[in-house]
Amino acid sequence: MAGFFETPIEFLKGVGPQRAVLLNKELRVFTFGDLIQHYPFRYEDRTRFYKVEQLTDEMPFVQIKGNVVKKEIVGSGFKKRLVVQLKDDSGEVEAVWFQGINWINEKIKIGVEYIVFGKPSRFGNRFSLAHPEIDVSTQKNEKGGFLHPVYPLTEKLRTRHLDNKVLSKLIQELLTQAHAKICETLPQGVIQQRKLITKMESILTIHFPKSNDVLAKAQQRLKFEELFYIQLRLLKMKLVRHEKFKGRIFHDATLLTQFYKEHLPFALTEAQKKVIKEIYADLKSGKQMNRLLQGDVGSGKTIVGFICMLIAIGGGAQCALMAPTEILAQQHYNNLKRYASAMHITVALLTGSVKKKERRDIHEGLQNGELKILIGTHALLEEEVQFQNLGLAIVDEQHRFGVAQRSKLWRKNTDFYPHVLVMTATPIPRTLAMTLYGDLDISTIDQLPAGRKPIKTIHRFDAHRLQVNQFLKDQIAGGRQVYMVYPLIEESEKLDLKHLMDGYESVCRAFPEVAVSIVHGKMKPEAKDFEMKRFVKGETNIMVATTVIEVGVDVPNASVMVIENAERFGLSQLHQLRGRVGRGADQSYCILMTDYKLGADSKVRIETMVKTNNGFEIAETDLKLRGPGDLMGTQQSGALDLLIADLAKDGQLIQEAREAAIEILDKDPDLSKEENKVVRQQIEATRKTVINWSRIS
Ligand code: ADP
Ligand code: MG
Repeated sequence: MAGFFETPIEFLKGVGPQRAVLLNKELRVFTFGDLIQHYPFRYEDRTRFYKVEQLTDEMPFVQIKGNVVKKEIVGSGFKKRLVVQLKDDSGEVEAVWFQGINWINEKIKIGVEYIVFGKPSRFGNRFSLAHPEIDVSTQKNEKGGFLHPVYPLTEKLRTRHLDNKVLSKLIQELLTQAHAKICETLPQGVIQQRKLITKMESILTIHFPKSNDVLAKAQQRLKFEELFYIQLRLLKMKLVRHEKFKGRIFHDATLLTQFYKEHLPFALTEAQKKVIKEIYADLKSGKQMNRLLQGDVGSGKTIVGFICMLIAIGGGAQCALMAPTEILAQQHYNNLKRYASAMHITVALLTGSVKKKERRDIHEGLQNGELKILIGTHALLEEEVQFQNLGLAIVDEQHRFGVAQRSKLWRKNTDFYPHVLVMTATPIPRTLAMTLYGDLDISTIDQLPAGRKPIKTIHRFDAHRLQVNQFLKDQIAGGRQVYMVYPLIEESEKLDLKHLMDGYESVCRAFPEVAVSIVHGKMKPEAKDFEMKRFVKGETNIMVATTVIEVGVDVPNASVMVIENAERFGLSQLHQLRGRVGRGADQSYCILMTDYKLGADSKVRIETMVKTNNGFEIAETDLKLRGPGDLMGTQQSGALDLLIADLAKDGQLIQEAREAAIEILDKDPDLSKEENKVVRQQIEATRKTVINWSRIS
């Protein structure tokens, strides 16, 4: 009965054409199947009654039973409200209505016992429930313990009377018709091994749970299934690519050995050696490499990239390195040029501002194969940039690039796809990486070069401004440079810009002898670039900026990072900003300035920053605080459009789902065995609907 679940929603009893349009538009529910998968996002616990004395601020919705001891209408105009006092044997609570006052007032009788259901909020030492549900307590509803599903809805649906109650009814109606038709979607082996409940039971339970225990089982099962198929698809994609896409074989290590012997500017860290080995193994494997190289800011990814280039160039190929901004591309160019010229390897920089003549030379060098390394911005992606023989494409600071852009780069060689190395300084918790980059191989540099002084991170309140300024003056007198970063977000752009300008002015006043630069996103690119360069050259000592300086900029002499309104930044962002200092030999500092008043989350963020310099630890905390949707680099991946699983909370399940998927593909890579028929069908069925976000590269 595959067709049943594809039935347009309009044909469900109680829906009809008009409601169908609403459901399409507001909830993207088009078919019976869609509605069945419109899972509640929480449940109201009506399985128990709370005593007034048990109430806390954090409780979501609670059910209380009490006698009405008093009721009155107070206030006037829009403040007019009905206040009802309820009393149980532990205390009193008030219920308040601002709307429908007369109607409710008539319904409520003093001295009668009621059941109220609402969200408690504290006012002083008493609790109040605004607009609770209220019913006379009867024997029937007293016993009727159940978990009440609450569905995602929109305001529009509510105003059109498609509220939670109606939606629950529709789903109930649908499930009575549908439940017998719900087939199992996981292989029996997996179900038995993981002790999962059946699909049918989990669907019924997720909508109408009988207890918290079975609900947990249903959630577990559905989450597992969702994650399992994500992992299976990613792994399958990787498998297919390994089989289909042959890679150029680079095994000549002559250049590499020469570089190691004669020009290596410092001893590589163990972690750098480890990832170079991993990459080298890929390059000589005969399979096309698709690898993510992650490493904290300052962990030394650049030289790893260069060494890999040597392997490719040693095999007669050309290499490309793409960076997200002109400044970064320039910086890479400066760094790599030093190494490359020592090795007599040609390298060029291609950005939007490269002049025509020079551009022509570059194109020519690329086509006749004389130019070995091309570094640049997305200017590299343009049609006329044609390599004779691109063997390795490196993409830095990956999250600034879209998937489409990356795939353009690797199509630059049509005989063989070039090997692709994606570098990111945004550490991602392992389980999240499994999903976001589940079809890439991952290498991690988990160690900073020796001898680097850890950045000291300090939290200061705005009231200590004078001391902070004195500290900065001392640092500048010692020849150091300072960043001062202000928040600037779109929602409050005007105000933020004003704060930034005010900040700039007060900095100029506080440091009259010091040259100050300012950079923000609203400036013309040339002006921005000009100021940036002045700071890089050391002509200015303080850089007042917004987060535009966040990515990659390397000014080793800048040793102090002051972050204003630090409470307004996310953790990953704070960490990225901090990574701008600590690149030279001097002790570096990161000073987080905040107001006295800090919210609970802000406190955790600031404390985490003060406590650790470890990007992975920070990413884990960030993931817990904010969920994956706000983590850097995940925004446009679409990997987060999950029905039920939560990448932040379900790390363990992601791991298990991946293991299960690996186990199956190991034994049956084509999924052709009878026992995996359901897997095949499921993949077929979802192929049509799933946005193919996972086709990375
Ligand atoms: P990131 O990983 O943030 O891109 P970089 O590649 O820019 O880091 O390296 C940061 C700094 O550390 C650079 O100045 C680089 O020359 C230096 N560096 C890299 N590896 C080592 C090492 N093994 N020992 C000492 N310094 C290193
Ligand atoms: Mg870098």
